[in-house]
This record gives sequence, structure tokens and C-alpha cells, in this order.
Amino acid sequence: MRFAAGGDTLGTMQGEMEAAEIPARRLARLGTAVRAMLRLAADVALPQLCAACREPVDGPGLCPACWRKLSFIGPPYCERLGIPFPFDDGPGLLSMEAIADPPAYERARAAVRYDDVAKKLVHGLKYGDRLDLAPIMARWMANAGGKLLAEADALVPVPLHWRRQWARRFNQSALLGEIIAKACGKPVVHGALKRVKATPQQVGLDKSGRAQNVQGAFRVPPEGKAEVAGRRLVLVDDVLTSGATVDACTRALLRGGAAAVDVLVFARVVAAVRAPI
Ligand SMILES: [Zn+2]
Repeated sequence: MRFAAGGDTLGTMQGEMEAAEIPARRLARLGTAVRAMLRLAADVALPQLCAACREPVDGPGLCPACWRKLSFIGPPYCERLGIPFPFDDGPGLLSMEAIADPPAYERARAAVRYDDVAKKLVHGLKYGDRLDLAPIMARWMANAGGKLLAEADALVPVPLHWRRQWARRFNQSALLGEIIAKACGKPVVHGALKRVKATPQQVGLDKSGRAQNVQGAFRVPPEGKAEVAGRRLVLVDDVLTSGATVDACTRALLRGGAAAVDVLVFARVVAAVRAPI
């Protein structure tokens, strides 16, 4: 390449630079394709790793030892909150928490208890290195929420604030919601709820701190009203801790005209197993 000033030579120089740029771009594209192929080859060649302990496993998900440590939640449980009871005393029983401090939503169901193994699954999905876990987590959720889903008109994932979604590139609740919706044949309405306040993470806050943190954080936007009005909705999230987030979402959906809201999460915190009252 010649570098010289002057009208004619400048035109030649630009032409040469453009010509030099084409192979460079091609090379970059080729590099991306090669990297993708290498990644694919590595995926095929390397065994899958257990999401919790990183031991090689045959299929996606967990090794048998970690699988045994997961606590699936099934009946008997509080009809309202879905908190497991230690013994079956008949259907329709409520926990003390549900009576003392009833939530805005009608019923909540969770696939598993939020313990160490569940936490690793949630983190693997949330921070994006284990998107392969979404189908298996969604399947467990669809099982746990079978009755809620059968009665629902549509699913609504708990939204992230746009800035957090931009940083994380995807919303784990929306991904789970999409897979569950396909399995149960109900639609997902993504625009039904907006996170209008960028709230700090709930970690480290107590119950009232969490409720205050998410107060006024969600709203049904004008364009979402038609999707919500008069419908029975299932709100989908990955984890239920104090319930403050799903409660704030439910209040917003009910204000937006929803007929009723149920909640389906992958994992929920269970402080202690108490007898029904
Ligand atoms: Zn394992």
C-alpha cells in the first residue's frame, strides 16, 4: 500500500484499503465460524457436566447423587402458598402464614425447595452458562403447576428491568415461561407487565425491606391492558423467597384488570415444615 498525498493517489489508496478490508472481514467471519464449530465439537466430544457438582453426566441436568439431594415439593401442602405440610390432614388446608398474611395471588406452586442443589441450577440458568437446564427445570415446574396451568388463560413471566435484561442478555423467567407455555398449550404474554423501577437486588433484605424495595416497581402498560383484562394468569418466576416480588407483580396485574393471578416458580424457600391449622 502506498501512502502519498494528492488527488489521484488518494483515490487509489482508498480503493486499496477497501480491497484489503474485504479479506479481513472474511477472515473475521471465518474466525467466528471456526470458533462456533470448535465449540460444537467440544460439546460433542466433552461429556456434559452436572449442574451442581460439575461431575460428568450422561444427559443434561444433574448426576444421580445431586438428583437425590433435590427436594421436590408435592402434596400435602398449603392450598394457598404451596408450603409443604409434614402430614396429610385432608385437602384444602391452609398454613398459618396464609391465614395471618394472605398474599395478593390466589395460589403459589413450586417444583423444588430452594436448597443448595436448586440454587446451583437457578444460578447456572440465570447467569447464562447453563441454558440447557431450562427445559428440565420447566418440565418440573409444569408438573408442579399442572392444575394452575390447566385453569389459566395465559402465562406472564416476571419481567426484568430493561437495563438488567440488557446486561444479562435474557430473562430466565421468560425462558422458563416459554417452555412451560409450549408444554401446556397456553400463550405467554410478554408485554403484560413492565418493571418500571430498577430495584436493587433483594438479597440481604428482610421481608418488609423486600416488600418496600419492589413497591411500585411493576405496571401493566397501556398496550398490555387487553392481554390482561378479565384473564386468569399464571405468573412465572425462577425463585420465590419472601414472595414480595410476585406479590407486587400480582397487585399490578389485578390493578390492570386481571381476573385472578396464580404463581408458579422453580424453587421456593421453605423456612420450616409446619403442620396445617
Ligand atoms: Zn452432581
